[in-house]
Amino acid sequence: MRLSRYFLPILKENPKEAEIVSHRLMLRAGLIRQESAGIYAWLPAGLRILNKVSNIIREEQNRSGAIELLMPTLQSADLWRESGRYDAYGDEMLRIKDRGERDMLYGPTNEEMITEIFRAYVKSYKDLPLNLYHIQWKFRDERRPRFGVMRSREFLMKDAYSFDLNFEAAKAAYNRMFVAYLRTFSRLGIQVIPMRADTGPIGGELSHEFIILADTGESQVFCDRAYLDLPVPGSDTNFDNDDEIADIVKRWTTPYAATDEMHDEAAWAKVGASDQLAARGIEVGHIFHFGTKYSEPMGAKVSGPDGKDHLVSMGSYGIGPSRVVAAIIEASHDENGIIWPKSVAPFGAGIVNMKPGDAACDAVSAKIYEALTNAGLDPLLDDTDDRPGAKFATMDLIGLPTQIIVGPRGVAAGEVELKDRATGARETLSVESAINKLA
Ligand code: ATP
Ligand code: MG
Ligand code: MG
Ligand code: MG
Repeated sequence: MRLSRYFLPILKENPKEAEIVSHRLMLRAGLIRQESAGIYAWLPAGLRILNKVSNIIREEQNRSGAIELLMPTLQSADLWRESGRYDAYGDEMLRIKDRGERDMLYGPTNEEMITEIFRAYVKSYKDLPLNLYHIQWKFRDERRPRFGVMRSREFLMKDAYSFDLNFEAAKAAYNRMFVAYLRTFSRLGIQVIPMRADTGPIGGELSHEFIILADTGESQVFCDRAYLDLPVPGSDTNFDNDDEIADIVKRWTTPYAATDEMHDEAAWAKVGASDQLAARGIEVGHIFHFGTKYSEPMGAKVSGPDGKDHLVSMGSYGIGPSRVVAAIIEASHDENGIIWPKSVAPFGAGIVNMKPGDAACDAVSAKIYEALTNAGLDPLLDDTDDRPGAKFATMDLIGLPTQIIVGPRGVAAGEVELKDRATGARETLSVESAINKLA
């Protein structure tokens, strides 16, 4: 992409409405724009990041055996009357009437709808296990939308729903999602800690929130430092092997980790003082086993091997890609701007042409641009008339992993400068070696 033809509305001033760094940087870097309270437009560079995040989530969901579909944003209130949640859900639900005076709502989540789809088609245990997910916009009329897309009213969610014959199989499904989440967040370049979370009236141990530690987090969390060094399961993980998956979950649930609501002072005291980490955290994902909470009122059953009907045992598994984008920035930035992990950067590299119009600079920039494009790096070439200082500031602000600086003096010597955004390290290389190094 050539910046002169792109739409990247950079803000020079710090927007005063933004209280936390990710919100500030997302506005300044031209990633999002608020359209109403808690409702954002994703501008082109922001959309690229959001799509990359969603795609990594999708790949890991698929790897673990989940199957993607797409449910609508608008739902009929009747479905929610079946489960009893239409009245129970409260003010976070946006309720709408259509022209026929039928009660509709903008989905805050999809347990009811997926259960309705399931019961319409699946009749036998032979079709289980089944895990269906979608990546779709949700609406929750949050009392205090704030921090940009971190807590917005309209937000993107990946929500998966598992269906199994009994608790044991449901637990295996839960474990698969747990491991898929570890892999997902690691590929997104962020360190998460799965923490025991409240299971509400259902009880049991099968609810974990996946938390990023950050000072601006809204939750108080407590965990053992051991989590910071646990190895993340590799791409060779066998999701068909329940024991292998259960072992990983065991390793990742053994050290102490709990959110405020689940905090247990007695267990906490057993963690060595030097290993105790009490911090603020951001919930980026949440997995939950809820058994027959929806299958029972909604009549989702399958015939079992015994020939009898069984209510299916279910779980749901959410990640908010839009919140994740902000959370990555909270975890990865400096005073000059964002530092994107390679996997989600909107462009793989930035080429700064310091003197557009200069034939030699233009030629070298074009050559590098073409080589990196062919290598699939999807570079952004700053070919605008801005001053070099402004160009450097923009590159640092938008946080692409590598910058290639093409200036008249270097070009005369056949050289360009490479700058690593994360470390700030610079090196001067011949044009060829620079290309070889990146491509
Ligand atoms: P919170 O405690 O922050 O209100 P939640 O527990 O209500 O979140 P879940 O119902 O567990 O959220 O939804 C799954 C995921 O969706 C969350 O882990 C989070 O990543 C995302 N999410 C939930 N609410 C919002 C929101 N208002 N804005 C952005 N992302 C959200
Ligand atoms: Mg909430
Ligand atoms: Mg929560
Ligand atoms: Mg939650």
